[in-house]
Amino acid sequence: MNLQTGYGTRSDCERYADQIHTLAGDLPDRTFHLMEVCGSHTMSIARHGLKALLPDKIKLLSGPGCPVCVTDEGYIDNAIRLARTEGVILTTFGDLMKVPGTQTALERVRSEGADVRVVYSPLDALEIAQEHPDRRVVFAAVGFETTAPGIAATVIQARDEGATNFLILPAHKLVPPALRALLDDPACRVDGFLCPGHVSTIIGSNAYEPVVTDYAIPSIVAGFEPTDILEAIPMLLRQIQTRQPRVETQYHRVVKPEGNRKALETMYAVYEPIDAVWRGIGPIPKSGLKVRETYAAHDAYAVFGISDAPFFKEGPCRCGDVLKGIIGPRECSIFGTACTPRTPLGPCMVSSEGSCAAEYKYGTGGEA
Ligand code: SF4
Repeated sequence: MNLQTGYGTRSDCERYADQIHTLAGDLPDRTFHLMEVCGSHTMSIARHGLKALLPDKIKLLSGPGCPVCVTDEGYIDNAIRLARTEGVILTTFGDLMKVPGTQTALERVRSEGADVRVVYSPLDALEIAQEHPDRRVVFAAVGFETTAPGIAATVIQARDEGATNFLILPAHKLVPPALRALLDDPACRVDGFLCPGHVSTIIGSNAYEPVVTDYAIPSIVAGFEPTDILEAIPMLLRQIQTRQPRVETQYHRVVKPEGNRKALETMYAVYEPIDAVWRGIGPIPKSGLKVRETYAAHDAYAVFGISDAPFFKEGPCRCGDVLKGIIGPRECSIFGTACTPRTPLGPCMVSSEGSCAAEYKYGTGGEA
């Protein structure tokens, strides 16, 4: 256990752990499953060994909050098709390079000669477009509400600066519709959500109110430090104990009820909601973003005439069930054998925020 943290102290962590044990002792005699929705939570929990502080009846499940993990094979196939197109430079965040499509991954396509470049921000991709006016530069735009506003701002900048060769291939995902889809699944075993801190800085804690009202599910918006997560868990347990589900915020230092209005305005100026396919889960209504007609000149789907790819149910990989919290990584029969960080067969093992990668690196499965 490593409880070194920039916020709070070890004694804070121990105090919250004591509260968790006391509250859990007063709960009925069964297992309670709390889902950390965000991949950053998953990594923090694994890195700091927080599960070891919890009583047996409190289990943490990883959710669908890793953007790379939920990016479907059909999208990767479309990105690969564009990377192989004459005159195109395909730009992407590094995590996406190893994610398998139905046949291969961007990393392999680059080794075969396609011009695929890793960038650290959409602005890097815009700069490449401005340096190469004779090429079309496509940015593979994945991510949740956290990244979508920045990418939208870059599209607006590209339009204003006349960079007509800068395009995006969006596969953004929205968190609240995904929470509904999880709760609608009869196999769902979630008793409460630790809602994602980063996403919530944009959408605000109010964005979860409709889900909590409709499903009576306890929900706490939590930060990523060990003390944040350990403070949020007793908050959740109190809601469960008193049967008063509501949205509460532990991450007050960053998250406001209304979110970031400017970021949301920018996001919805460029994008509109659309049904989206989540890897291993399938289509979820209004859970993605598409480029509005006004910005169609920067939309790779429109410019290249790309249609939506069908949903592929994965073979041996059980990422879908892992992302829904139905199984843990170790319950996948090929975890740590055929599927390791060096030979990932699914996105949950590829991404640095993936729950299988976290379990492999920080669990007893070996070193990543
Ligand atoms: S261990 Fe690998 S194959 Fe299994 S669910 Fe995780 S990523 Fe998919």
